[in-house]
Amino acid sequence: MAGLDTPSKALPGFAFPEDLPRRYAGLFKDYVIEPGAPSLMRMGRVREAEQQLLACVDGWASVTRQLMCDGDWDLAFVVFTSSDTSQHFFWSDQGRRVIERVYEVQDEATAGLIQAARDRDPGVNVIVMADHGGAPNSRGPEFLPIWLQDQGFQVMARPPLKGRVLSAGYRLADRTLTRQQKQALARRFGRLREQAEAEARLGGIDWSRTTAYADGRRDEVLVNMAEGAGSGAVGADGYDRFVADVQERLSALTELDTGRPAVSSVKRRAEIYDGPFVHRAPDLTIRWALDGPLHGLAVDSRRARERMAEAAARPPFQPGGHHPEGLFVAAGPNVRPVEVRGHLVDFTPTVLALLGVPVPAGLDGRPLDLLTGIRAESGSPADVASGGDESTDSSGYTPEEEEAVRNRLEALGYL
Ligand SMILES: [Zn+2]
Repeated sequence: MAGLDTPSKALPGFAFPEDLPRRYAGLFKDYVIEPGAPSLMRMGRVREAEQQLLACVDGWASVTRQLMCDGDWDLAFVVFTSSDTSQHFFWSDQGRRVIERVYEVQDEATAGLIQAARDRDPGVNVIVMADHGGAPNSRGPEFLPIWLQDQGFQVMARPPLKGRVLSAGYRLADRTLTRQQKQALARRFGRLREQAEAEARLGGIDWSRTTAYADGRRDEVLVNMAEGAGSGAVGADGYDRFVADVQERLSALTELDTGRPAVSSVKRRAEIYDGPFVHRAPDLTIRWALDGPLHGLAVDSRRARERMAEAAARPPFQPGGHHPEGLFVAAGPNVRPVEVRGHLVDFTPTVLALLGVPVPAGLDGRPLDLLTGIRAESGSPADVASGGDESTDSSGYTPEEEEAVRNRLEALGYL
């Protein structure tokens, strides 16, 4: 079953095999793909958002339980997203009870699924994991463009009238429409939405004078490389020196007024990623200080100080954000009682090892040191070679698959 970005249960590609929703019509009747809490919160429908976040858990668990009972499977898994969404929107003293209730409901659903799996096979191995944790929203990305402008990296031009109208229209629609209404609009005006979204995030940047920029949403700074005459501002020969300079200045960022450190680390892409597509990653990735929301970043000009203070005074749309530490619990006949620390990249190799499948040598990560009664085989050198011709950049999709992806993106309004 697909999730999150799937526009509708009725579209091909929602489930595989395709006829699953028809075969289990009763189960899928009230199944919610994604509760759409952000839209509801934008409209101030807080109670409804809370109820949706709780109600959809049962739909996901019921379908999973039924398929686990009826099917013949090697690996069954289900993703609960309500814990993440509730943390984003209810990270406050008053909201705390909503987050706790979501955890209780997800825990009950998880217990039911584990019981169902054990009833079928008492020797089943079970893993419960969260790929990240929750923390107060640092708000750093909101303040980053103001700092970049203050330091002269990001230069704004007055946007042309058409751009201003589009982005204002998109912001209004984003705030006031339900998920369903937006889907309908996106279907009808796909191009418009794409353009408006891009305008809203990066609109008004003077690309000929901007050296580094941020979109106000992500913990990333991107360098505006000169790739042709008049296209960007940083040449290939000056790149390393430029990135090192921005990295150093970002690392030293402090909070407006208090002077406390705002950043815990700034990494260049080559420090965190490797492989043939590293050049597509953001040039710099920031990890903000985790001890609560920032009240703006220290800046030099008076105008920027005013803008920072204004931005900080606006309540954040999402009071909660992500914490880099997640959770991992495993139990079963092939799991030793032991405490381990691992990384997200170790998860897939661990699952493969539990299934008795050789871990391809080209895969990042390695099985966590908790297996027993299973020999974690490593892949043959052939696995590395078959990991794809790294010099080409093909999608790896067949023409039919590409058509299916295109249809889905169109339905979502991206194309
Ligand atoms: Zn999240």
